[in-house]
Amino acid sequence: MRRTTFTIGLVSLAIAVSASALAQTSADTAGKKAAVQTAESQAAVTPASAVEKLKKGNARFVEKNMRSRDWLAKVPATAGGQYPFATILACMDSRAPIEIIFDQGIGDVFGIRIAGNVVNEDVLGSMEYATKVVGSKLLVVLGHTSCGAVKGSIDDAKLGNLTGLLAKIRPAVSASGPGSSKDDAYVTKVAQANVSQAMKEIREKSPTIKAQLDAGTVGLVGAIYDVSTGKVTFLSD
Ligand SMILES: [Zn+2]
Repeated sequence: MRRTTFTIGLVSLAIAVSASALAQTSADTAGKKAAVQTAESQAAVTPASAVEKLKKGNARFVEKNMRSRDWLAKVPATAGGQYPFATILACMDSRAPIEIIFDQGIGDVFGIRIAGNVVNEDVLGSMEYATKVVGSKLLVVLGHTSCGAVKGSIDDAKLGNLTGLLAKIRPAVSASGPGSSKDDAYVTKVAQANVSQAMKEIREKSPTIKAQLDAGTVGLVGAIYDVSTGKVTFLSD
């Protein structure tokens, strides 16, 4: 009799544990799914609200209030598809990792990174894919302070294939008037001009993107990241 009771007790315990584990798994799955971008969440974003999401993300970053993320859980949650709400053209600079400075997770934003955040046909093609094919609502050109590519262009540096890349920044140097790569304020001024130049090129060289900008289905904004404070300033602000 005692043995029977004991066995029933064990079975009950096992069932209780299973049910609890199942409930926990179910709750976790639901929570993680809600945390990644979906077709529905992407469709609900507008160009203006995409800017707000990035501004709020950067504010969380500088205020040490970043969202806690279960990074590995986002891998299976995004494996079936991606619905990033924004596309960011940024410099390759190791001090400006876009997901971190905007407090975004896996599957949230497209990142196109190249020295000096310059535009070329491959960058434009990537942006056309991001907006027209995948439905990203916002294009951001993100320059930054103390940019080595900008400094190199100011100095008219020559080095192998880098020479051609730096030449793409020269119009921004010319537009900024005379100055020195040792003058931080001047380097930032050229970086801003370079962002404006890239925005102009995107509109002029991609009819696909221009049509979406004109229709208002996609937005285009410029911004500068300050490597000394962590703050992103949108140029229209
Ligand atoms: Zn840079």
